[in-house]
Amino acid sequence: LDSNTLKNESKMVVDFISDYYNNIEKYPVRSEVQPGYLSAKLPQSAPCCPESLEDILKDVSDSILPGLTHWQSPNFFAYFQANASNAGFVGEMLCSGLNIVGFSWISSPAATELESLVMDWMGKLLNLPSSFLFSGNGGGVLHGSTCEAIVCTLAAARDKVLKRMGWDKITKLVVYASDQTHATLHKGTKLVGIPSSNIRSLSTSFSSGFSLSPQTLQEAIENDIKSGFIPLFLCATVGTTACGAVDPIKELGEIAKKYNIWLHIDAAYAGSACICPEFRHYLNGVELADSVSMNPHKWLLTNMDCCCLWVKQPYSLIDSLTSDAEYLRNAATESNNVVDYKDWQIALSKRFRALKLWVVIRRHGLSNLMYHIRSDVKLAKWFESLVGNDKRFEIVVPRRFALVCFRLKPKNGIDGSKLNRQLLFAVNESGRAFMTHGVAGGVYFLRCAIGSTLTEERHVSELWKLIQEKAQTILANATT
Ligand code: PLP
Repeated sequence: LDSNTLKNESKMVVDFISDYYNNIEKYPVRSEVQPGYLSAKLPQSAPCCPESLEDILKDVSDSILPGLTHWQSPNFFAYFQANASNAGFVGEMLCSGLNIVGFSWISSPAATELESLVMDWMGKLLNLPSSFLFSGNGGGVLHGSTCEAIVCTLAAARDKVLKRMGWDKITKLVVYASDQTHATLHKGTKLVGIPSSNIRSLSTSFSSGFSLSPQTLQEAIENDIKSGFIPLFLCATVGTTACGAVDPIKELGEIAKKYNIWLHIDAAYAGSACICPEFRHYLNGVELADSVSMNPHKWLLTNMDCCCLWVKQPYSLIDSLTSDAEYLRNAATESNNVVDYKDWQIALSKRFRALKLWVVIRRHGLSNLMYHIRSDVKLAKWFESLVGNDKRFEIVVPRRFALVCFRLKPKNGIDGSKLNRQLLFAVNESGRAFMTHGVAGGVYFLRCAIGSTLTEERHVSELWKLIQEKAQTILANATT
């Protein structure tokens, strides 16, 4: 590591990335390579002697870029986007440039203190109750993903109950969520040792917009109690992955309180929208939750990775996740006056993600962050109106944020699923755009998730033309 080489080579990399962004629209959005393509292009063994950065960047151009799906393309409408911004990029540069490891306060005091500060900032931007903030005896931590946040909160909830009821009761613990909840909950439940058969994926339907019905929850809990199970954890979602549904937090929270169930709110995607007053109502009832998480790396201009988790009772988390080793002992920890983030997460080591989020919030300010959300929602509304005005199509689930769920209506007795699979295939094969699908209530639909930082009105307009063009051919050939 020497500073002159760092300066020269970083400049080369920054130039490379900046050229990439200049040309990003020229690449097929979804990679067109076949499995195993890379091993035919690159040596099978590591080099013995150092190689030049020029050679490496040439290989990135020739071999890596063709195998990328271009998440930052303005024509990327798949999954939920992974937002990038200049601020996110320079924040990430600072984070890896300083390359500290902030597992405990003493291992890098600024990393811990900035993380606590920025978590309070972010909590205030979302208008979370003060009980989730350090300033109100709660607190927040940055994880890499929602999955980690869920595993940690599940472990905290599990230990709180098992300490009281006995460790052999683990097979009796039950986790509740709707059938729209992200699969991460299932993974997390298994990881903390609760049998998968104890996850209640409660049915949702078109009539409720795919949100979890409080009555369905209440009945499931009562049934479980009658059968000798112990209700443990409820995961409610604000903005589900398939169709952007929102669970009624307040009503569900009241039930969770009644049965002493840990309520977690997964707002991975739509949490970002809740910085705007007009979307904040989706979090109403959050005061009844025990924990909340959202991913600024999805929709808040923060480069991967960054997931915010707030808890009301940090000690529940710490009790489950604390690790103790002689070499970690220090006076600051023993004073009990500091946060040691190693006890709030799975890993011991910790990146300085707070620096990135801090730069993102400062460089944009609340006003530009809100502008970013609102302009994506405006584009989504416009796309929704284009779909709505074409009689061949229908909106499948009412839009709430910047995700539009739509499909070609079934025609000539051909089921909608077949037509819409063909349509999605044709759109993605064109290389001009990339979308993914969802299924809710047994209906297969296309998802247009608007939110890539570079997406403008012209890209949405081109997407719609592409969809119409492909739909016309598919419908013309549609026979049973
Ligand atoms: N929860 C929701 C609602 C999501 O949409 C996603 C991913 O899209 C996840 C959880 C998983 O997030 P992560 O990849 O951060 O674990």
